[in-house]
Amino acid sequence: MTTTEDLRKKVRDFLASHPFTPRCDSWAGAYDPGFSRELAHAGLLAVSWPEHLGGGGGTAVDRLVVTEELLRAGAPLAAHWVGERQIGPTLLRHGTPELQEEFCPPLARADRTFALGMSEPDAGSDLASLRTSAVRDGDGWRITGRKIWTSGAHLATHLYVLARTSREPDHHDGLTEFIVAMDAPGITVTPILDLRGEHHFNEVALEDVYVPGRWVIGRVGEGWRQVVGQLAFERGGPERFLSTYPLLSAVLTAGLVDDTARRELRALAARLQILRAWVLETARTLDAGGAPVVQAAMSKYLGNRFELSVIEWARPLMPRAIPAVRALYDQALAASPASGIRGGAAQVMLSMIAKDNR
Ligand SMILES: Cc1cc2nc3c(=O)[nH]c(=O)nc-3n(C[C@H](O)[C@H](O)[C@H](O)COP(=O)(O)OP(=O)(O)OC[C@H]3O[C@@H](n4cnc5c(N)ncnc54)[C@H](O)[C@@H]3O)c2cc1C
Repeated sequence: MTTTEDLRKKVRDFLASHPFTPRCDSWAGAYDPGFSRELAHAGLLAVSWPEHLGGGGGTAVDRLVVTEELLRAGAPLAAHWVGERQIGPTLLRHGTPELQEEFCPPLARADRTFALGMSEPDAGSDLASLRTSAVRDGDGWRITGRKIWTSGAHLATHLYVLARTSREPDHHDGLTEFIVAMDAPGITVTPILDLRGEHHFNEVALEDVYVPGRWVIGRVGEGWRQVVGQLAFERGGPERFLSTYPLLSAVLTAGLVDDTARRELRALAARLQILRAWVLETARTLDAGGAPVVQAAMSKYLGNRFELSVIEWARPLMPRAIPAVRALYDQALAASPASGIRGGAAQVMLSMIAKDNR
């Protein structure tokens, strides 16, 4: 049996033999399909999926160990991130065995890549008000609508789409989850540049796009209940507080820490340990088959506050920093406005936590 420490060592050995330039926010901003395939080849992708579907047969806790090491190092993870973090696990929970067999093994090899088509121009925090619709066409479906802020859609092979399949009194009902091939006729991807002028997200227009019936995830009309469970995978992982870790680590290695920074570092270290304990608890709940949505909202909110604190901590030290450390600071700073929005706005996380009456 592989122990946690063996697994951690395996990741560190892999990182030592696969050179890359460390980046902050590497799970969202550093796209390298070759690196993702190498990770898969080394048995470090989809470690929590069943072996017969190309996974490692391990647990969500094993995956946490692997991702923690990769994120701390600032390794390029964006190519496989959405597919491995949440599409595969969603298929394992809700997909038919045929759908799992069709998609999980190529996702586990990083041969297929996913973008997330949830948000729309008039549906972000209130996702259930989305207007993209799917109507039946023989055995399949035709999807028409617009998705926005779709990270990596210009690079992905497939798109996860949440669409309305019927009108119901409660707008949370009548939604369905689909898989769409990005090369299907009727899809137009328009780049949206971020404040750095970088092409990361897009607007995706779907015009009468055909989707085979077998590419429905789970049950027709049950999309809301299913997607809420998916949000635990999306929000509850260590990427919500380790995006700025490469900066923290580089500042320490470069010997930039003065007395004030050293005092503040103790508080940061304590907060980091609390967040680590919290995501470990989340991973254990996932392993037990739960959907810890509120727990995930807490780690996303507190993780985001932690990342902002790391940037504030590093700021006064930057005038003495070498260019490589300064570059990490710039990446962290440029990504910071988005961190409290992507995957769900901070205020919405607070609202969910406040309403939880357990
Ligand atoms: C970098 C980045 C990448 C993204 N990638 C993707 C992607 O790949 N796929 C995808 O589908 N989406 C993606 N998104 C979109 C993201 O999920 C939405 O931006 C987010 O859900 C907020 O929706 P909105 O932008 O429509 O803002 P709105 O919903 O209009 O909210 C604006 C602000 O209003 C406040 N607010 C809204 N509702 C409430 C409430 N109920 N309680 C309290 N305050 C509230 C909050 O302050 C919120 O920030 C991405 C966003 C960013 C920034």
